[in-house]
Amino acid sequence: MNRRVRVRFAPSPTGPLHMGGVRTALYNYLFAKKHGGDFLLRIEDTDQTRFVEGAENYIIESLKWCGIMPNEGQGIGGDFGPYKQSERKDANMYTQYAMQLVESGHAYYAFDTAEELEEMRELAKKAKMPNWQYNSITRGSLKNSISLSEDEVKARLDVGDPFTIRIKMPRNEDVRFHDEIRGWVTVNTNNLDDKVLYKSDGMPTYHLANIVDDHLMEITHVIRGEEWLPSAPLHVLLYRYLGWEETMPLFAHLPLLLKPDGNGKLSKRDGDRLGFPVFPLEWKDPSTGEISSGYKQKGYFKESFINMLAFLGWNPGTPQEIFSLDELVEAFTLERVSKSGAKFDPDKTKWFNQQYLRSKSDLELGSLLKEKIQGDFSLEYLAGVANLMKERASFIDDMLEGDYFFGKPSEYDKDTVNKKWKPETPALISELKERFANVSEWKSEVLESTFKTFLEEKGLGMGAILPNFRLTVTGKGMGPSMFAIAELLGKEETLTRMQEGIDKI
Ligand code: GLU
Repeated sequence: MNRRVRVRFAPSPTGPLHMGGVRTALYNYLFAKKHGGDFLLRIEDTDQTRFVEGAENYIIESLKWCGIMPNEGQGIGGDFGPYKQSERKDANMYTQYAMQLVESGHAYYAFDTAEELEEMRELAKKAKMPNWQYNSITRGSLKNSISLSEDEVKARLDVGDPFTIRIKMPRNEDVRFHDEIRGWVTVNTNNLDDKVLYKSDGMPTYHLANIVDDHLMEITHVIRGEEWLPSAPLHVLLYRYLGWEETMPLFAHLPLLLKPDGNGKLSKRDGDRLGFPVFPLEWKDPSTGEISSGYKQKGYFKESFINMLAFLGWNPGTPQEIFSLDELVEAFTLERVSKSGAKFDPDKTKWFNQQYLRSKSDLELGSLLKEKIQGDFSLEYLAGVANLMKERASFIDDMLEGDYFFGKPSEYDKDTVNKKWKPETPALISELKERFANVSEWKSEVLESTFKTFLEEKGLGMGAILPNFRLTVTGKGMGPSMFAIAELLGKEETLTRMQEGIDKI
């Protein structure tokens, strides 16, 4: 089988895309690019009751922000459309396959109403059999085309009785398939139920639509979350029963994303509760108006978000941790995806951002700063600010802590004032100011040596005066080199601030 690699990301538009979903999209993207294949976006909206306004758009915007846009699919186009299942249903692309399964005896009509099924479940619960299922054992006593006579089935169909179509799960058969990450998986059909394939409203369920679409769209690899592993045996049977086994895609089920403490799956609700975003972009719930934070708005670079996600469940087998998207394409293989759950680490996520921030040029950081501040500052000046602040920053916003670069201090750090500002301080700062006023050149090194000479002459230690110098100029107790700050602020500004400090503190 030497087919062109075609993979798909197939989210359901039931809400914002969780970072686990973005990781699935990313691995699909990497795999497709690595093999020179296609990466498709298909919207799986067969469950209309869970449709959420704006979710589809959110999914596309998120992929766009991450720089991992599919090259074919919903909102993009291609030869295998439509790429949204509700539209494929309208184009009548599923019914014939449901019928084919009924005709070949692999599926059957079921006429039981939702209420009747609920009743069965309740009865079973009372009889202490809580996991009641529609399956090879119970189907004989339910209302379907296996238990009812041919005439009755025909009569019901003729009068338009609502029906679903269910798979007829064989009894006691081993379904065996190979997972690219997990190896061979075997499941006995006695553990599987007769899943609905086709609903009474004429809509296929996820299972049927997914198989039909993957087949018609010539998908070669299904790379998706572990939560779909239990459905895979059913999917394998559907390929077999529809006669498509030869071109059945290979499966790769990705490990779960776990909470930072490793206890359970990272859920949509965890994020803001535990203090980090779980969504790529900010999301406003259309029904409640509730806002969930997004990586983009929290100040993460898309490169670091992607780099971090790539490592949640995969590693390159070398110590290298910083990878551009192109390098990820180069290095990625399904063999190096792990089977066990990947613990999400918010600190590591920040670390990645810090690495990317540090790797940017001062000019680049300066122009990012420019977007965040008011006031007319030259790019060169902002690059200077970035140069001083980036060592302490994980985010562009962290650099704004140096607010003194953009205006005089409006207050002076109380702790430092209490600890360091002594009765003799004003006179010393005043003298230091005079020395600075006379330096040959306003340069950080010159200021530093002038400062040291001054200390020696006075027989003072650094601690007696440096924090106070900082206080007057920045209002803060800590920060980058004071001499570098002074150089950047300029002579006049520095001397003015020193005087104002003396007057105000
Ligand atoms: N619609 C499924 C989801 O929301 C897709 C599962 C699959 O990729 O087969 O994740």
